[in-house]
Amino acid sequence: MKHFKTAALLLLTSSVFTACQKTGLTEQNEPVPETMAAISPEFQHLKVCTELYPEGTSPRGATIKTKQWPNGTILKVSLNGGTAFVRSKVIEFARQWETYANIKFNFVTKDRKATIRVTFSPGGSWSYIGTDAYAIKGGKATMNFGWFDNATPDEEFSRVAIHEFGHALGMIHEHQHPLADIPWDKPKVYEYYKQTQGWTTQQVDVNLFQKYSTSQTNFSAYDKTSIMHYPVEEELTIGNFSVGWNTVLSSTDKSFIGAVYPK
Ligand SMILES: [Zn+2]
Repeated sequence: MKHFKTAALLLLTSSVFTACQKTGLTEQNEPVPETMAAISPEFQHLKVCTELYPEGTSPRGATIKTKQWPNGTILKVSLNGGTAFVRSKVIEFARQWETYANIKFNFVTKDRKATIRVTFSPGGSWSYIGTDAYAIKGGKATMNFGWFDNATPDEEFSRVAIHEFGHALGMIHEHQHPLADIPWDKPKVYEYYKQTQGWTTQQVDVNLFQKYSTSQTNFSAYDKTSIMHYPVEEELTIGNFSVGWNTVLSSTDKSFIGAVYPK
């Protein structure tokens, strides 16, 4: 298999559900655990995605099957709800993928038969991955933005909208890239995600430490600057490894999606 670039394309048979969850914040009057005390404030308010799997399925043992769309697909995307301003921002940033990929988005509203169905329900932000959207029946949402409003800064629209539409094109989280080698300080990571997201150790294992195999994915080099990467606080790693808040498409994101969906 030709090695494409960064962010790996998911090739799983199981429906993969990727959810960006708003953090559960530590109440100000609660004692701050030692791990959290060392974390910078912006990382204590982390809003990240999770990848969840239907009960009884496993991404590791799954039969390989691509989730990418046929090249040249025009994807009908229905934006259901949200303000006109918020919808316009989602469209503006999602369309950045069209510059590099041979994929077009046809944005409509209130179409329950559209392939990608976006809601704006308060809570988490998430998306199914690539063609897994076909598995979602009954007009249910295949993507949600949980915290956008008319006061959302452009940088946040960019960070989250481009990321979620990356999932819709088949991209997985970059920190689970087959070649990712993040020197996690695991006990601190468990404590941190328990505090900020309410995650169990198993959820941390699935969402952070498990990586996709080389046979499951199209990939090239691991890319710290990918829009699909979680922010990683240095305090949660051994040594001085860290990843900032990636809010724009990296050069590798652009070349990778162009290799997957060539023009
Ligand atoms: Zn995500």
